[in-house]
Amino acid sequence: MMEETLDSWFLDLFKDKPLLMAGPCSAETKEQMLSTAEQLKERVDFFRAGVWKPRTRPGGFEGVGEIGIKWLAEVKKNTGLKTATEVANKDHARLAIEGDVDLLWIGARTTVSPFVVQEIAHQLRGTDKIVLVKNPVSPDLSLWIGAIERLQKEGIEKIGAIHRGFSVYEKTIYRNDPQWQIPIELKERFPKIPIICDPSHIAGKRELIQELSQRALDFNFNGLMIETHCNPDQAWSDATQQITPQRFFEIVGQLKVRRKKFEAEEFEKEIKTMRCEIDAIDQKIVELLGKRMEISDKIGKIKMQNNVCVLQRERWNQIMKRATQMAKEKGVTPEFIEKIFKAIHQESIDRQKGQ
Ligand code: PEP
Ligand code: MN
Repeated sequence: MMEETLDSWFLDLFKDKPLLMAGPCSAETKEQMLSTAEQLKERVDFFRAGVWKPRTRPGGFEGVGEIGIKWLAEVKKNTGLKTATEVANKDHARLAIEGDVDLLWIGARTTVSPFVVQEIAHQLRGTDKIVLVKNPVSPDLSLWIGAIERLQKEGIEKIGAIHRGFSVYEKTIYRNDPQWQIPIELKERFPKIPIICDPSHIAGKRELIQELSQRALDFNFNGLMIETHCNPDQAWSDATQQITPQRFFEIVGQLKVRRKKFEAEEFEKEIKTMRCEIDAIDQKIVELLGKRMEISDKIGKIKMQNNVCVLQRERWNQIMKRATQMAKEKGVTPEFIEKIFKAIHQESIDRQKGQ
């Protein structure tokens, strides 16, 4: 990600260190909150817990509500930890501010709704609390930007973003596909705004959290929000992705925070050479794609002349099978190759249809 100086509110609090936020997906009981917070207090900057839980489908646990704000206050009193919760409408925003929650975030299902974001922004007008905006559930950069702009317009100064991955129709190994290029582009548009990563909601399962967290730091994200529960398997929401405080410490202990600038000249030279190699490979990729399209256009013509349907499912299955097999041999994930080949195939079909 582009390196620029971050907003001063963030630098004053964290300098070069990543912000660490942990705590349960949902506030469930006072005991669960206090026990989790007590175990985390040495290492985290913010204790998170959702008290209002927007659920995609009805019938799930929708949060303990206002009482949870009181429990957060108790966490702060007992452990000294700063607190964080999700606000999904203007009443939540008011109650969180009245309850002295230190950091509020707008959830992915709310960021998609400009009227609701506007109402929350208005309610928070001029607040000195930190307000973070999660990306919208859909891979739509404009909605994310729009929500940030609405907060800026209401004079809120401590603004940040949270990347929690995107809903996509195709199944991937993730609960929410990371699509890293989207937060990277957000960072390019708003270089001063810190972006933290929520690997828990990207992963959907605890086994993936470590590698996603490291990936986020490699991309120069400014912090992590990780769902952590004193008894994850018994959690009332998102049980499969929550981890114990002990596991949280292990993960954080193993993370490598990359240097922001390459100091040694040697190192810079090496990177330059490799970038040239990458440029050359990219050129080849584009050339080969051009050639492939030319051939497929010719096939398209023959199909037209013989009145044959453009989409030949059997042939397509063969191509995919071969490509994913080759991918495995080359150490590339079949999911990645599948995505690329779907795009290539789509383009070929569109061109053939257009003939
Ligand atoms: C959460 O952080 O618990 C949450 C509901 O996240 P999201 O809005 O990313 O789904
Ligand atoms: Mn959750």
